[in-house]
Amino acid sequence: MNIILLGPPGAGKGTQSAGLVERHGMMQLSTGDMLRAAVKAQTPVGLEAKAVMDAGELVSDEIVSKLIDDNLAALDAGTGAIFDGYPRTAAQGEQLDAILAKHGRTLDHVIELEVNVDALVERITGRYSCANCGALYHDTANVPAKEGVCDVCGSTEFKRRPDDNEETVRTRMEEYRAKTAPILPGYEARGIVTRVDGMADIDAVAGQIDAVLG
Ligand code: ADP
Ligand code: AMP
Repeated sequence: MNIILLGPPGAGKGTQSAGLVERHGMMQLSTGDMLRAAVKAQTPVGLEAKAVMDAGELVSDEIVSKLIDDNLAALDAGTGAIFDGYPRTAAQGEQLDAILAKHGRTLDHVIELEVNVDALVERITGRYSCANCGALYHDTANVPAKEGVCDVCGSTEFKRRPDDNEETVRTRMEEYRAKTAPILPGYEARGIVTRVDGMADIDAVAGQIDAVLG
């Protein structure tokens, strides 16, 4: 099973991917996470991507599609892939089709997380994660069971993304509206899109996604 989680920044793609990995043993392929790792490691890709990411703009199609291709090549054929934050442009959509074909995979579902745009700024500016394992939290909507201690690994160190500020969020939303939302009709024509209510609480969204996966 190979699926795309589609939705604007803050829709809950990363949160739901983590649940799918845990419940179904799938692999999350997040181009955002891959790029942040490249920035941290100061690889050539990271050095090129950093300023673009800080501005909330899109990194080049070639860079992100190569990251997806390389990661998919390393994935066991029997493990399903969750594409999180990719594809984000029509060109990336075409590149993904070619990459999937190359690796003998097919796209089973595109799950669109439908959210109220007004809620997204609060979701993103309240987002933080465990500095050790990357588990995602929110200042009010999704806090660890024990304050200051990661539910998953017990770490007490947390971090925030440099691009999770109100100004950059506006650019990221606009990039989504202008470049990413227009790729949906092509998937709709293939009959593989399901919309889920991304405004429901995290467990309810997970339930809706599991119902799609069957
Ligand atoms: P994306 O990967 O789509 O950018 P995230 O999964 O990182 O979004 O979620 C953004 C923020 O919103 C995080 O702080 C997360 O804890 C929180 N969040 C995710 N899903 C929900 C939800 N259904 N209800 C409330 N908050 C949520
Ligand atoms: P995300 O973690 O998905 O919110 O992505 C963070 C940032 O990484 C985005 O604002 C872009 O600058 C960059 N990025 C992530 N995925 C892509 C992609 N598929 N195409 C272009 N840029 C991307």
